[in-house]
Formats: sequence, structure tokens, C-alpha cells
Amino acid sequence: MPGILDGRVALVTGSGRGIGRAVAEALAAAGARVAVNYSRDREGAVETAERVGGRAYHADVSKREDVHRMAEEIHRDLGKVSILVNNAGVLYPMDLEHYDDKLMWRMVGVNMMGPVYTVLEFLDDLRSSEGCVVNIASNAGIGTAAPGTTFYAMTKAAVIAFTKRLAFDLSGTGVRVNCIAPGWVETDMTVGGRSQEEVEATREHFRSRTTLRRTGRPEDIASVVLFLASGASSYMNGQVIVVDGGRVDNLSHSV
Ligand code: NAD
Repeated sequence: MPGILDGRVALVTGSGRGIGRAVAEALAAAGARVAVNYSRDREGAVETAERVGGRAYHADVSKREDVHRMAEEIHRDLGKVSILVNNAGVLYPMDLEHYDDKLMWRMVGVNMMGPVYTVLEFLDDLRSSEGCVVNIASNAGIGTAAPGTTFYAMTKAAVIAFTKRLAFDLSGTGVRVNCIAPGWVETDMTVGGRSQEEVEATREHFRSRTTLRRTGRPEDIASVVLFLASGASSYMNGQVIVVDGGRVDNLSHSV
């Protein structure tokens, strides 16, 4: 769909790899000028930026001062952001017996506070451009169970609540706020650092629980972000779209 986002500026947080990179590519292919954000993975971000003809901007989204500085740089280079994709996230699996406060606060900082800080920083841009926010939550946030993800799920449930309430708070401004709850997508987050056997066993686990009998690809999420950022979804606000290949254990859930 080349051209449908012509003239728009998009920020995709955590877009040096994985879902974020696929989102940056999809938005750029549709005509948006894309600001690529990274915290540690500069190399990955520079590669994404090269692919999309944009620039990489450093900010740890869990730090308000970083997000503020990044916003100043983006305003200077590209102008107002009218598409904000809160994609950056971290998953530290832990069960009750191995609870780790430091890792918990890191998940809270990145997954929950990241979207808060970017929204606060780009609120004027979004309002004056009748822009949109797309938050990447997780099906964990609507209750899909996977071992060790209880605390991660809490942070993603917060993203869903933030999506709905922000849509409400911005009533009448023309800003749309929606959210995607992906199922299991093969990225560094889910397969990084694991042995081939572990990866294959995990794939099979999720395949067998998915009506489409395959695991997710970053592009499966990116195409839905593109939909939510485009006029094709112009009458959707405050919604959560589950993109999980039809998980059998979710088919009776409502969100
Ligand atoms: P990933 O680990 O490949 O990518 C996450 C990106 O976020 C990385 O580029 C990382 O460097 C960046 N990031 C981490 N902390 C950051 C910070 N403080 N500031 C800026 N950037 C930061 O994982 P992914 O699978 O591509 O995940 C993307 C999003 O999708 C995350 O929010 C994740 O929780 C969510 N998600 C993923 C899956 C999945 O199965 N892969 C499922 C549901 C939801």
C-alpha cells in the first residue's frame, strides 16, 4: 500500500530488530518517514534505519529524560510525530520461587512507563495532527498462560488498560489509541540464546495450540500496526486486537 502514509512521521520504539523492525519497514513502505529508536542495540537500529531510509535515535524508554531528549532530536529532524508505536519491551521469565525485584522493576520501567513517557512527550504532536498511538501489549495481558510470564503479563495488562483509558482521555481530539496483543512470535525475545532443540520444542508447543498451526512472524504484527495507523481503521479507538494465529485457549475470551 505505497503512499497511504505519505507525509506522516512515525516513531517506533525498540525497532532495531524483531517486531519493531518489521513495523518500521511496513510503515516506511507505506510512505511514512520513520524514526527508529533503540536503547542498547545501536548496530541493529542503524541497520533498520538504513532499510527504511530513516535515522536511529537513542533513548532508554524507561527514562523520561532520555525520551525528552529523543523527542527534541526527532522534532528538529522530522517535525511532528503523528504515528507513535510503543513496541519496546522486555520479558524476564520468572516464577514465584525465583522472583527478582530488579528484573520486575525493569519490566515495569520499559513495558509500562515507556509508553507513558512517549505519550506525554508527543501528546501535543498527536493532538495537533489527529495522530494515532499503537501499543504492543501481549496476549499474556489478556490472560493467556505461559510458564514464568505472570509478572510480564501484569505489565502488558497495564498497557491494555492504558490504551483504553488514553482513548477515553483523548475523546474529541481525533487521536486514536489502539493496541495489539500478539501471541508467540519468533524473535530474539522468544528464541534468542536457546538451543535448536529447545526452539523446536517451543515452536511445536505453540503450533499445536494455534488453529493456524504455525507460529507468528514479525510481519504478522507489522501488517496490523499498518492497519491501525492508516485510515482503514479510522473508526476504531480504544481497541485491543489479538493477533495470535487463533490460539485455541483464547477463542472464548473477550477483551
Ligand atoms: P525483541 O527483544 O526482539 O525486541 C524488543 C526491542 O525493544 C529490542 O530492539 C530491544 O533492544 C528494545 N528495547 C528493550 N528495552 C528498551 C528500552 N528500555 N528502550 C528502548 N528500546 C528497548 O522482542 P520482540 O518480540 O520484537 O518484541 C517487541 C514487542 O512485542 C515487545 O513489547 C514484546 O513484549 C511484544 N510481544 C512479543 C511477543 C513475541 O512472542 N515475540 C509476544 C507478545 C508481545
